[in-house]
Amino acid sequence: QNDLLSATGTTIFTVMSALAVQHGAINLGQGFPDYDGPEDVIEAAAAALKDGRNQYPPLTGVPELRVAVSDHNRRFYGIEADPNAEVIVTSGATEAITACLMAVLNPGDECVLIEPLYDTYLPVVRMLGAIPRLVRLSPPKWELPRAELAAAFGPKTKAILLNSPMNPTGKVFTAAELAFLADLIARHDCYAICDEVYEHLTFDGWKHIPLMTLPGMRERCMRIGSAGKTFSLTGWKVGYITCDRTLAPNVAKAHQNLTFTTPPNLQRGVAIGLAKEDAYFAGLSASLQSRRDRLATGLAELGFGVLPTQGSYFITTDFRPIMSPLGFNGDDVAFCRLLTEEAKVTAIPVTAFYASAEAPGHYARFAFCKGEAVIDAALERMRNWL
Ligand code: PMP
Ligand code: GLN
Repeated sequence: QNDLLSATGTTIFTVMSALAVQHGAINLGQGFPDYDGPEDVIEAAAAALKDGRNQYPPLTGVPELRVAVSDHNRRFYGIEADPNAEVIVTSGATEAITACLMAVLNPGDECVLIEPLYDTYLPVVRMLGAIPRLVRLSPPKWELPRAELAAAFGPKTKAILLNSPMNPTGKVFTAAELAFLADLIARHDCYAICDEVYEHLTFDGWKHIPLMTLPGMRERCMRIGSAGKTFSLTGWKVGYITCDRTLAPNVAKAHQNLTFTTPPNLQRGVAIGLAKEDAYFAGLSASLQSRRDRLATGLAELGFGVLPTQGSYFITTDFRPIMSPLGFNGDDVAFCRLLTEEAKVTAIPVTAFYASAEAPGHYARFAFCKGEAVIDAALERMRNWL
């Protein structure tokens, strides 16, 4: 057996979702909407299924979707990308992240990762034989520790993996932070893998800025989007990468060896989605912002320390203000178990997003991509429990 995989636990999202089912808990853990995405997108995919679009599509994606990704890049960010040479469709952002890492990392290369981090990053970097260099953001502000970040870059640095808007913190990286990062990336002549799956889920006027749009970054960045998040269709697993034409062939080869292609009917639906009017994208963030407000207000009323969320599906909370007075001194894993078993509400322990055990152990992440009645019912259960 592969030692690295044996040492990798089952993902926290699966563990907590199973526990939620077992205890009949409302699942505010794993980040998936409990409502469906746009009907025209689903209809387009359904029609494509019946139309006979059911055989292997082209390796880098159906042309229609590659053009839609390219148009979307231009419309929202002014990024020009050749749909025939600089766009690759993958089976979800998860595959895209792995394909991009595979495309640039050799064994012994260093890859800078920012903690807290999404749970697939570290095992994949390690499986490639590359060396993770971890830099930690600190709550409650999750500001970029500039000196530490600069120190993490060195002669062996080949890449940095950046997630903005960020899971689980809800942080949106500022223009100044991105400029600092871009300078380091250029000076160390390395690449950036940009996990931007929450690009359209920003709130309170916060705007997502792709690192790729900064001076000198066009050729160095691999920008990743996900239909799961942009169209509230997480089960579809359609992702897309935009990168320079010099990088794309290697990314495509990685994709070739991972999944080779992605279902053509779903790709058709996503192409229709990416071409939707601006109002769709504005409506998506407005609707999530109101769900965030509903959950954040309710959690604060219960006594949680609610950290600000500028983007994503998630709110991070400090549970000590409510649990310490009750004599609970357990960590986040114990808290999330207790909450599931007793209050019948599920959240995710934030230590799951850290590489080592010395992580802050008093934060729980709640997902607000849920119906309003579900959010209200979860709050009601917690109120009754406390
Ligand atoms: N990156 C981040 C930060 C995520 O939160 C997720 C989870 N949804 C993914 C990547 C994976 O996206 P996909 O479902 O498209 O593989
Ligand atoms: N991205 C989702 C989350 O953070 C879960 C994805 C998964 O289950 N792997 O909750």
